[in-house]
Order: sequence, then C-alpha cells, then structure tokens
Amino acid sequence: MSLDKNNYVHVTNGDFKEIDKILNEGKTVLAALECGEKLKASLEEGKMSNGFANVELKEYKDNCGTCGCGKPANCLVYLWR
Ligand SMILES: [Zn+2]
Repeated sequence: MSLDKNNYVHVTNGDFKEIDKILNEGKTVLAALECGEKLKASLEEGKMSNGFANVELKEYKDNCGTCGCGKPANCLVYLWR
C-alpha cells in the first residue's frame, strides 16, 4: 500500500470511521480537515501521532469540508497506510 495521488477517495465530512475503512482497503484518502496544532505536527512528521495513517498536505483551502471535530475544514491532506 502506498500514496496514490492519482486515485483516491475524497472524504469531506471528517468521518474517521469511514476513512479507516477506506484505508484498510489499501486506498488513498484525500481528507478535508481543520489544520490545528496537532495536524501541523503530524504533517511535519509525515504521520498521525496516533499511528492512524501517513499524512501529506495537498493544499490549504478554506471551507473545503467539515473536520472530524466539527470545525470547518481548511486543508486537504492525503492519508494512506
Ligand atoms: Zn478537527
């Protein structure tokens, strides 16, 4: 399994249960999230601190969806395992 920027599933509602399912299928997810301190740190690491998935920033984009915490999303990130 690896990052595939040409073939991914776009998730804009912050549903991490759904994201987890898609990642388990070996697919790449493009997720809309709110870029807070935790996510910024994860982007520097290249992975989520809880080991959930690898992560890479695609772009900052205001109101591109809703984050898992309910805040408006302002960035799009690739997630993969
Ligand atoms: Zn959030």
